Order: sequence, then C-alpha cells, then structure tokens
Amino acid sequence: MNGHTPGEPVDMNAVAVVCRRAWNAVEPRDRTEMKSPAQTVIIHHTALRYCDSVSQLAHIQHMHMQERGFDDIGYNFLISGDGMVYEGRGWGIVGAHAKEHNLNSVGIAFMGNFNDEMPSSAAQSALLRLLHIGVLHGHVWPNFVLEGHRDVAKTECPGEYLYALLPKLRDQLQNQ
Ligand SMILES: [Zn+2]
Repeated sequence: MNGHTPGEPVDMNAVAVVCRRAWNAVEPRDRTEMKSPAQTVIIHHTALRYCDSVSQLAHIQHMHMQERGFDDIGYNFLISGDGMVYEGRGWGIVGAHAKEHNLNSVGIAFMGNFNDEMPSSAAQSALLRLLHIGVLHGHVWPNFVLEGHRDVAKTECPGEYLYALLPKLRDQLQNQ
C-alpha cells in the first residue's frame, strides 16, 4: 500500500517510486546517460501473468540480463496493477526496450498481459503522475509523444486493451 486512499484528491506532484534496492535489483553492467530530455514515451506490457511485484521485477531483470544480454532491466519504469511505480533504469538513462528508439525515449511497462484484460485505473493514474513528474523535472520534453511499442516495431506489445487506451491517456496528459 502506498497510503493513498481511493477517492482522495491526487497530488499531481507526488508519485511513489519503489527504488531498485527494494526489489533486490542487481547492479547494471553498464549505463548510458541520455543527452537530452526524452522526446517519446513508449508504453509496453510485460506480457507476464501478474504475481507479486518484487519477485517479478527480479525475474524480468534476470531474463533481460541473462537471456537477452542487456546491461540491466530494459525498461525505465514498470507499473503494477495496484498503481505502484517501480524503478527500472530510472530517469535519464538510455533503456533497452524499443530497438532504434531507445536513445530518445523512456520505456514504461505495465505489468501484466493486456491482450486479456484492461489496465487498472490505479496503474493509469500512476502513469499520468509519473509523466507529470518527468516533465516537471526536465527528464521528458513537455511536448513528448506517447506511443505504444507496436507503433514503432512489429510486435503486439503493449496488448490490445492497453493500446486502445492510449488516445484517452494522451487526452488526459494534455489536460493535466
Ligand atoms: Zn514492448
């Protein structure tokens, strides 16, 4: 629990980010800083059945580093169904999530498989707050473009239901 009561006004300047230490991340092999604020935010899903977040984060990091040869977990952030935001590579670090688009984008994964279900409203709201903070702190360009992974690659990611939500999320971002 992050202490936020449903129905309570959301403080747009606050989002609880669970740091790497809390999910037992191993050290990255290497990291590259982004040269300028991200111009694009690319939305993914993990396509894994949701279980408890801490072991799932460690599992994803292991897959990305051992099986796919990445330097670290590929995503910059991950969002669980209960609306918690987990630090992947974090802000300002080049990710490994969308080939040929990593250098100027932030990769955010919703945890779960959204070919089968809708992302929770808690997860959607966490995304909006996270991006608000990202712009406020200069990590993301104010006029950034929000895309689904399938907009830039041949993949079904981020799943039918999450992809179908992106226009609504774009509207909410513009009005926030
Ligand atoms: Zn993806």
